[in-house]
Order: sequence, then structure tokens, then C-alpha cells
Amino acid sequence: MSGPAGDKTGLFADLAGQDAVVAQLEKAAAAAAALLAGQRSPRGGVWGGRPPGPYPRGGVWVGRPPGAARPGAMTHAWLFTGPPGSGRSVAARAFAAALLCPSGGCGQCASCHQVQAGTHADLMLIRPEGLSYGVRQTRDLVLRAAGKPTGGRWQVVLFEDADRCTEQAANALLKAIEEPAPQTVWLLCAPSAEDLVPTIRSRCRVVTLVVPASAAVAKVLVTRDGIEPARALAAARAAQGHVGRARRLALDASAAKRRADVLQVPLSATSLGPALAAAAALVRTAEEEAKAVTEELDEPERDALRRAFGEGSTGKGVAKAMRGMAGAMKDLEDRQKSRATRVKRDTLDQALLELALFYRDILMVQLGADVELANEDADLRKVASASSPESTLRRMQAIMRCRERLTLNVAPLLAVEEMTLSLAQG
Ligand SMILES: [Zn+2]
Repeated sequence: MSGPAGDKTGLFADLAGQDAVVAQLEKAAAAAAALLAGQRSPRGGVWGGRPPGPYPRGGVWVGRPPGAARPGAMTHAWLFTGPPGSGRSVAARAFAAALLCPSGGCGQCASCHQVQAGTHADLMLIRPEGLSYGVRQTRDLVLRAAGKPTGGRWQVVLFEDADRCTEQAANALLKAIEEPAPQTVWLLCAPSAEDLVPTIRSRCRVVTLVVPASAAVAKVLVTRDGIEPARALAAARAAQGHVGRARRLALDASAAKRRADVLQVPLSATSLGPALAAAAALVRTAEEEAKAVTEELDEPERDALRRAFGEGSTGKGVAKAMRGMAGAMKDLEDRQKSRATRVKRDTLDQALLELALFYRDILMVQLGADVELANEDADLRKVASASSPESTLRRMQAIMRCRERLTLNVAPLLAVEEMTLSLAQG
């Protein structure tokens, strides 16, 4: 973590433009520390301190329902929501660090560093890699989550993309949240509260992240990553509040190049032939980007597995271990395959949103609206002056229709070709 020593907000420094959320979480972390202090009070017993509830008794959390009047109080189940890139999991991770840190979230100690690195013994990080998270995995998780924290503070389960739970998995999860272990805290992340079944949602305190302003994102890029201010602001605008994407656009030349390629589509798709070529290029660009993302993850995972099975060593039992490894490797490769599918789909969708944003900017220029544009360049004005707001709207609809068809598993190239033809028609 960066930030001056003892800077309590250091933990949350990565969150751009989320002041209300940071205040809420800092309060809750302080309340959690008070709960633990009460637990150790001479009045004795576990949870003898009687701070204002909810607090666990007899293994069950009792007290007010979460969420209600005191958003800064501590409770055992939290739901972090917000648009992609706003920092749901960053916020949850910082909160986990604050809960597990002996000094309430210093951002400097071993515990804080371990949480940030994902290696803390009392932090379970769950990140569904495929398209869904199944009931078997959830049951395992619930069982492990019921354990006692080794550090004596909290057992924190950070569940990213909790909306990917299958229905049965959600039921298994619900049971755990209904009757939580005394010192277990669940941190679920999802795009919006509506993405979870109402029964889970209603038992969680909801933390709502907002789309951060470009200036706030740029500030994080400047102070945390040392990116030059003008470049940081341009990247922040282009990424429309997605902090990670803004960082990638500012630091990774090939990501910036791919974005520029995507934005060539409106200029190049002018008639049948070029429209089809633009479609092919768009799908290829998305595939390349997805490949770059997954390759970076795949190989280290396979290496780690090989090392875990002691590949390369000799002696009794090695042959048996190698047979075990084959099964585990197959499992891993299956998971990697389904992750690759998801990344491919997400990347193409990202490109389409980029394109939709370009046309939104065009529409704003055409209507003379005074809003911040994601794209600032001459191309934008060229297309804007050459078409009408009505045709811009039709083009945006074509993009949205394409996104919809992709979720219905239409072959990507087919769906995108249909879109670029509509774009060419105007
Ligand atoms: Zn600390």
C-alpha cells in the first residue's frame, strides 16, 4: 500500500471518487473493532461487551436487520454493488484488510499486506472463473467459511461476482448467511443488488459504489501510478469511470491501439465490402485481446499445479502423484477453457460498448449537448457532421441489438457483420 505511514485512508486510496463508501466502511471497521474489544472485555464470555447489535449469540447473529438505519454499523453480510470497474472488489478487499488488521486498517502491517496479496490465512478469496458457480463449490466454501479465524479476529469470505451463483449454489449460500458462524463475515460483490436473489439481498448490508468522475479516476492514476496528468485524464475519459481499464489504456500501448482499431469501424464501415471487413477486424481484435488476457493467467496456473505435485522430483510415490496430477490438470484446463470463453465474450462486449459510446458522443455533438465526451478527436466531428441524430440513434440500436444477440449465443462474426452492415446503412 502507498500513502504516508499511518495514513488510515491509505487502504482505500485505490478507490476513485467513492468518498461516501469509504466513510461507511471506515465506520463499520471501527464498529467491528469495538465488537472484538467487547468480546475480550472482563464482563467476559464471548460477545460479552454488548455493543449495539447485530452481534452473534449462540452462533447466530441477532439484532437489527442489516441495512436499515445505521449504514456504518457492523454486520456479518455485505453486498458491494456498482458498475464494472468502479471498484467493488477493491472496496471489499480494503474492507477485509481493515477488519483483519490489528490496528483497524493501517495499510502498512503484515496483515494488511497479506490481504492485499490475497494470502491472509483468514481471508477466503472466491473468484468464479467460469460462467457460473456451482452448488458443489458453494458447499465446500460454506464448510470452510464456518471455521474459526486463526488470527482471532474475523474469518472473511470475499466472493467476487456472486451473481454468477447458480440457483442451487445461491440456496447453499443463503443458509450460510442466515445462520452465520460467530466470527465469519461475508463480502459479496455483484453489479447490482438485483443480480442476487431477494432472500440473500435482504440479509446483506448494501454498499453502493458509483461511477467515479473522470477527474477522480485521473487523480488515482497520477498519484498511484505516476502517469502524466493529461494522459491520465484522456484515459480516464475513454474508460468512462472504469479505473482498471483507464490504467490499462494509459500504460499498455497495445490496449490503446486495440481501442483505436475498434473506433475505426464507424469511419471504415461505409459500404458492403468494408463493412464486412470491419466486422472481421473487430472480432479478431477482441479475440486477440482476450488471448492476451487469458495467456497471462493460464501458464502460471499450470506451473503452480506442476510444482504442487512435485514434478521433476524422483523417488517412491512420484509416479502415483503424477497420475493424480493428470486429473487435477484436466480440471484446471477445463476451468481455463470456460474462463477463456467468458473473457472472449466480455472483451467483444467491451468493444461494442466502446463503439456505442463513440456514437453517443456523436449524438451529443449533433445535439449540441454540453457533456463530457469520452472521445475527443476530429474523427468524431467528421462523422457527426456527415449524419443526422436519427441515424446515430439507429446505429446505437444496431450495436445494442448485436450485444443482445451475442448473449443468445449467435456466432460472433455473424452478429457483428449484421451490425456493421446496419452501421454502414445509417
Ligand atoms: Zn494493518
